[in-house]
Amino acid sequence: MRILMVEDETYMAEAIVHILKKHHYTVDLVDNGTDGLDYGLSGIYDVIILDIMLPEMDGFSVLKRLRQNEVHTPVILLTARGDTEDRVTGLDSGADDYLAKPFETEELLARLRALGRRFTDLAHNNTFIYGDIEFNQHTLTLCYDKMEVSLTLKEAQLLELLMKRKNMIISKEMMIEKVWGFDTDADESRVEIHISLLRKKLTKLGSSVTIRTIRGAGYLLQTEKDESS
Ligand code: CA
Repeated sequence: MRILMVEDETYMAEAIVHILKKHHYTVDLVDNGTDGLDYGLSGIYDVIILDIMLPEMDGFSVLKRLRQNEVHTPVILLTARGDTEDRVTGLDSGADDYLAKPFETEELLARLRALGRRFTDLAHNNTFIYGDIEFNQHTLTLCYDKMEVSLTLKEAQLLELLMKRKNMIISKEMMIEKVWGFDTDADESRVEIHISLLRKKLTKLGSSVTIRTIRGAGYLLQTEKDESS
């Protein structure tokens, strides 16, 4: 699981990052609201831990902007203890959970586990639509018009990544991390093979959706319409 932590109390933040890493989370730490928003908008995180009082832009504004931009990454807000108003404002702004400072690390870890589960459950009910194709996560089928092909698990996971972060380039490195996990000996050629198989299936369906290679950067999902513009 990949976590973004936005917190300007550096000493406390670094201690938490250290503990999270020990629990095998990948963590990026930024110390102001502007960077928090930029990183958050990338959409690559599974959970964002967001402080409210931050330099440049406060946590509520960061959260609102993320939700306005259709980034639905679960957010845990860090609030001052006993501040009911913060909690209410936070939940109204689209936070999924909050934690009052100071908190026990065990509590944070429990919340992270719970959010991770909730996120997975939500995704499992989803059908993803992009351009003229529809991907069903339950049946691992990809449909165009009345045609249908089955995907392997890896193909499905790669396509899901591309569909969830449409209009964004996904690096091979991120694909390995998300699909094969951190402790893997899978390399970039494995990604290339599965992407090539996925492309063949898209062509077979006659869909106008293509997976474009951006040299040195990764892959981007596109429809023919995008290419001509
Ligand atoms: Ca702060």
